[in-house]
Formats: sequence, structure tokens, C-alpha cells
Amino acid sequence: MDSAAQTKPASAAPDAAGVPRVVIVGAGFGGLAVATGLARAPVEVTVIDRRNYHLFQPLLYQVATAALSPAEIAWPIRSILRNQKNTTVLLGRATGVDVAGRAVLLADGRRLAYDFLVLATGARHAYFGHDDWEAFAPGLKKIDDATEIRRRILLAFERAEVAENPAEHERLLTFVIVGGGPTGVELAGTLAELARKALAADFRHIDSRETRVILAEAGPRILPSFPESLSRIAEQALARLGVETRLGHPVTAVDAQGVEIDGARIPAATVLWAAGVAASPAGKWLGAERDRAGRIKVQADMSVPGHPEIFAIGDTVLALGRDGAPLPGVAPVAKQQGSYVARVIKARLAGKPAPKPFRYINVGNLATVGRRAAVIDFGVLRLSGWLAWWMWGIVHIYFLIGMRNRLIVAIHWLWSYITFQRGARLITGADS
Ligand SMILES: Cc1cc2nc3c(=O)[nH]c(=O)nc-3n(C[C@H](O)[C@H](O)[C@H](O)COP(=O)(O)OP(=O)(O)OC[C@H]3O[C@@H](n4cnc5c(N)ncnc54)[C@H](O)[C@@H]3O)c2cc1C
Repeated sequence: MDSAAQTKPASAAPDAAGVPRVVIVGAGFGGLAVATGLARAPVEVTVIDRRNYHLFQPLLYQVATAALSPAEIAWPIRSILRNQKNTTVLLGRATGVDVAGRAVLLADGRRLAYDFLVLATGARHAYFGHDDWEAFAPGLKKIDDATEIRRRILLAFERAEVAENPAEHERLLTFVIVGGGPTGVELAGTLAELARKALAADFRHIDSRETRVILAEAGPRILPSFPESLSRIAEQALARLGVETRLGHPVTAVDAQGVEIDGARIPAATVLWAAGVAASPAGKWLGAERDRAGRIKVQADMSVPGHPEIFAIGDTVLALGRDGAPLPGVAPVAKQQGSYVARVIKARLAGKPAPKPFRYINVGNLATVGRRAAVIDFGVLRLSGWLAWWMWGIVHIYFLIGMRNRLIVAIHWLWSYITFQRGARLITGADS
């Protein structure tokens, strides 16, 4: 628990009329589901996030590979919840929880008093004890990460165009993606398409089609959370795009010159990290029991053991499925847990029996490999190829927030499909 002395008064003063206060930290998929689930409840909801927007992380890789612009996959939290009269949105970063005093501690010294607290602070990338690799191999979690990756990718082509040394030329046109989960596969496929199609006619001194895209996965197959047959199909689809898949050996070194896999050095100017995640520090704030990834071990009603008034959901928790296996860190899990916690709070306030323990309903596992290629696992039904790709596209547009974003993304995708062009090829952030 963070016990930093907090002297400033609470910004959400205890409600004089005795209306219970629900504080939700994090307006990602989980936090928003709790807030909207409490829309008509007799509570005062405060949603606090360190960012002023909700981010649709599943399409971050498209920003990183210049297919979409940041504002097309993000939406202001204030605007999403503006019609919800019982809800206040605050911009701020939580740094701890005063469990005994029932208050969230904020970085600017404020305290937010609560009667119910929901921690929905997500996860960040992890480098398995090699934090020094982050400078050379950025991960993809935030919009800033996506624009930084986009900068590195586009700069590599620009530098290759003027490179005179053949070895340097080859290093600049080699891209290594570490981690063969859905994000790694999606990055590799789209990057290969960017090099072979979108950029092919734009340079005079390089042939961008000579670009090497290497996907390195320590395990025996890519997409380990999918059935083996779909992993094989995805690997074949990547191979058709020219992606080299290296399986079965961990990356043992990452530096400014490239990577080392199984003792072999691969010179590469751009290395991207899609290999591991660690939970947010929410578990530390509470002193709660956690797994190795820092995820809070929650009870069946998503409350934190010993604290029925504190709930934790989404990527920051370890919750088990019917088969006893940990639930995956995906948006539908966070959303369903969020809606469930809203029901638990409403039932408690109404003096009704608690809902049955949380059960995740699997709505399918999706990953796209590139143009007209995706894999979907619905459990009993497995799909791949163009049909899966169309379904992937429709599902993602449907779940985007805001009609404007849905329309713009649909138009961008249609345009790219017809012309192979990428509309967001901006090098931003720093001068070249
Ligand atoms: C690149 C990428 C691709 C993905 N692709 C898919 C996919 O295709 N399908 C799928 O289902 N899932 C996908 N996921 C996973 C999915 O995005 C997560 O499972 C989901 O976002 C988890 O929801 P959450 O509410 O737990 O956390 P998040 O959505 O991460 O939200 C956490 C929120 O908490 C806020 N926050 C964190 N710390 C603090 C703090 N200290 N103070 C205040 N606010 C804080 C953050 O700003 C953020 O808004 C992907 C994830 C990534 C990174």
C-alpha cells in the first residue's frame, strides 16, 4: 500500500446526502464497462484516468504501421460518458490506495474518497528482467509507443535510401519483431505489406520489397493461444507475405545494432517488442496477493481478498476460467468483468443476493495476418482466410467507439484495400 502522506483535501468530497461513491481507476475496456453498467444506479461515480481518452488497443498496430491515425482509435472519455449524469470524469494518475482510509491517492497529492473502488488499470509491456532492451525494442501499449514505432519504421526506409555501405543498407532494411502472439503476428504481416506494396514505388535508390521482416518466437509455434491448426495457417500466410518466422529460440540480446537469437547475431536497425506483459502496480498499492506477472488474485466476485469494497478487473488481475486456466488478457474479458462488477455493486446496494460467481463467455479469439488473411477461433468453429478477415474487420469496426471513428476507419480500410496506400506515413516526434 502506498502510504505517502496526503495533505490536500479530497477532490470528490464525501457525499452529504449519503449517496455511495464509486471510484473507478482506468477508463479502458474494463473501467468503461463498470461506469456504463452503473449509469442508472443510485451512486456517484468518479472515473479517473491518466489519459483523457479511451484507447482501442487492438488497432494500435495499424497506427504503428501508418495505416490509421491516432485519433481514429481513441475517443475522449469525457465525451463517452457525457450523458451519464451520475458520473464525473477526472484526469489524473493514481499512485496508491489508502485502504484503511478508503481513498485513492493521486500523483498531484489529491485524495479521492470512495465507498466502492474498482481498479481497472490494465497492463504494460515487460522485458523479462532486461529493462535495458526497451530503448532498442519499443513495445506497443500506448499511442506514444505506436507513433514512436511508426517513426522508427519510416526512418529506417529513409536512411536506407541514402545509405552507401551495403551492410548498413541491409541492416536498415531488416526488421525484427520479438513475440509471436497476435500483436507480433499483426505487426509482422502489416509491416511486410507496407514494405512490399505501399512503399514499393516511392523510393529511387532502394527496393523496399527487399526488406526482411523476421518474427522471433521463443515457443514452438506462433499464436500459442490459438489451436495448432490455426497457428500453422497463420505461419503459412506470413510466409506468403515474405515474413521469416524463427521459432523455438529466445532472443538473448538486443542492442542498437540488432538482436541475438540462439547465439546468432541478426543486424537490424528496427526491433519491436511484442513478447511480454506485466500487470499495472495496482496489486502493490493494495499489498494484495499477486502472480508472477503482478496480477491480483481476485475472488470469484472480482473483489480483492479481505476487501469486499475493492474490485479489480481486466488485465491487472488473474481470474480463472471454468477449466481452471487463467483467463486471457483480452478486451472481452475486461468488458464482461466490468459489467459483472457493476451488477455486484447494484445488488449490494439494493440488498439483493450477490450475482453468481463471474463466468467468462468466450466470444472468440481473432488475429489478422495481413490482407485477406485472418484466423478466428470460436471454440467449436474455426475460421481462416478471407472470410475470417472480413469478419475481423467488421468486428473491429463495430467495437470502435464513436460513429465518426467507425466511418473513417471503414473508409481508410476500403481505400487501402483498393490502392494499397497507407494514409498516415508521418515521421513525428523528433527530427531525423
Ligand atoms: C497492441 C495490443 C493489441 C491488442 N489486441 C487485442 C485484440 O485484438 N483483441 C482483444 O480482445 N484484446 C487485444 N488486446 C488486449 C486488450 O486491449 C486488453 O485486454 C484490454 O485493453 C484490457 O482492458 P483493461 O480495462 O484491463 O485495461 P486497458 O484497456 O489497458 O485500460 C487501462 C486504463 O487504465 C489507465 N491507467 C493505468 N494506470 C493508471 C493510473 N495509475 N492512474 C490512472 N489511470 C491509469 C490507462 O490510461 C488506461 O486507460 C491488445 C492489447 C494490445 C496492447
